[in-house]
Amino acid sequence: MWEDKVRKVVPYTPGEQPRINNLIKLNTNENPYPPAPAVRERLKDLKYGDLRLYPDPNCRLLVDALSGYHKVKPSQVFVGVGSDDVLSVAFLTFFNGDVPILFPDITYSFYDVWADLYHIPYEIMPLKADFSIDKNDYLKENGGIVIANPNAPTGLELDVSVIEEIVSKNKDSVVIVDEAYVDFGGTTILPLIDKYENLLVVRTFSKSRNMAGLRIGYAIGSEKLIKYMSDVKFSINSYTMNMPSLELGKLSVEDDEYFKTTCAKVIDTRERTKKALKELNFSFPDSRTNFIFAKYDGPVSRDDIAAELRKRNILVRCFNGERIKDYMRISIGTDEEMRVVIEALKEVLR
Ligand code: PMP
Repeated sequence: MWEDKVRKVVPYTPGEQPRINNLIKLNTNENPYPPAPAVRERLKDLKYGDLRLYPDPNCRLLVDALSGYHKVKPSQVFVGVGSDDVLSVAFLTFFNGDVPILFPDITYSFYDVWADLYHIPYEIMPLKADFSIDKNDYLKENGGIVIANPNAPTGLELDVSVIEEIVSKNKDSVVIVDEAYVDFGGTTILPLIDKYENLLVVRTFSKSRNMAGLRIGYAIGSEKLIKYMSDVKFSINSYTMNMPSLELGKLSVEDDEYFKTTCAKVIDTRERTKKALKELNFSFPDSRTNFIFAKYDGPVSRDDIAAELRKRNILVRCFNGERIKDYMRISIGTDEEMRVVIEALKEVLR
């Protein structure tokens, strides 16, 4: 009975990546703009012969760029294959006790998958009716805490002072703050990184740095936290980051003007989209991200709306689950893409 010995898991389901021409793809929170121009230039002269070599196991190019950018020591930066990889290593490293870790019921749906995979006990803390966090839920004994801020898929941001309180009152466990979407107008907790040894902030290049295809994520924390994560990483796979990711990721970090300009464009489009959706009788938590988690307050069901959009080559993401079954998550595309989406919605809801 070899199957009795198998580690059985219910995997995370990623958003679809269909190959359809002229698709308006608003289902995985990718950025509609290309990466920084220097990335394109460097791609042209990446030396294919260099691919025969292993990449730098310490990822210095990228680590140094990020440490300079965030004004922390290189020994406070951990990089990985997307923030999924970084979060997975963090779960494996820091959540190794018998007391349950805590995270909200409506949040990034990978957290419970990693917890199950690594046999980490967990307790799910329901968000309030308005999808906000009740901080008191996180002030009891626990084996660790994970909070996405702003949260996904709700888009809501929790005030940094509340997160600080959670971190400061949980000195006996590691608190992971997943800031995948913070660059779209949110407030980061990074300035507090040197104040709290137990605080780990996780970021990604997939959303605000327009590079989901390269798979780059990182964490910043105390030197101790990063050393522990690094030990685990080097016990699984020394060469996680490929050479193009290291080179091109560094160039992205160096072009702050492009980064800020594209983030501002997405924010601008998001705010316009909020207005248009409101006029169509949608309601949503006030998003600080590059998506809107919207519910139609009218007689057409969410699934019918999503199906009609799909017929028009527009893809949005629908999650199941009692509290969110009427919501669809619409990533923010270009102004033109969002104009097409709003026109399509008008047609569908007419
Ligand atoms: N955290 C959150 C909250 C996310 O929504 C995502 C995107 N699916 C990730 C982490 C992972 O992103 P990536 O692995 O592309 O960095």
